[in-house]
Amino acid sequence: MRKVTCPCDQTFSLDIPETINLDEQPQVISSILDGSFLSCVCPRCGSSLNLDLPTRVEWPSKKAIIHLVPEVERISVMHGGRTVAEGELVVVGYSELADRIAVLKEELDILAIESLKIRLLEKARESNPQATAQLVFEKKTPSGDLEFHLHGLREGEVAITVVPYRVYEMVLQSLKDNPDAEEYTALINGPYISAKNILLEDGDLNA
Ligand SMILES: [Zn+2]
Repeated sequence: MRKVTCPCDQTFSLDIPETINLDEQPQVISSILDGSFLSCVCPRCGSSLNLDLPTRVEWPSKKAIIHLVPEVERISVMHGGRTVAEGELVVVGYSELADRIAVLKEELDILAIESLKIRLLEKARESNPQATAQLVFEKKTPSGDLEFHLHGLREGEVAITVVPYRVYEMVLQSLKDNPDAEEYTALINGPYISAKNILLEDGDLNA
């Protein structure tokens, strides 16, 4: 049982395990992707709560073990304050978990996707330098292209960006040819692989 406190101060227990195995419980994959995993309704005030409780997600068939770390611990993660076993990964906040599960489900390369995000966000910043946008990988479209959702470009709006699969393949090839290039190694911060390692400067982090 996990203890949850609603903003209304009601504390209640939730029957959500601390470790999930997606091969044993494949139905959890879609609940992570549709946002219903780790969400609940407060029994007192009826608010819908979207939680990012620390959770270990094991997906043996994808050779992946992912630790979901709450958003409030982002600064610690980005300063290397979170260590996990060799080969295991960390994601910060629920949307990064959903993103990473979607990437693994579609058999895509994590580093290539994060590198693509950098290219897309640099384009977004060209048209709106003030934007602190967040890009989330959603899925492969029926035609096999890659759908990203861009949050925060304009208040409360989500923009959908579709990247042709061949662009992804170009990035993947470049990554294979130059794995030690700064543009790729800078995406890796111990177990935390993310475009945010490049996009979030210390100033943004402490804001
Ligand atoms: Zn409540």
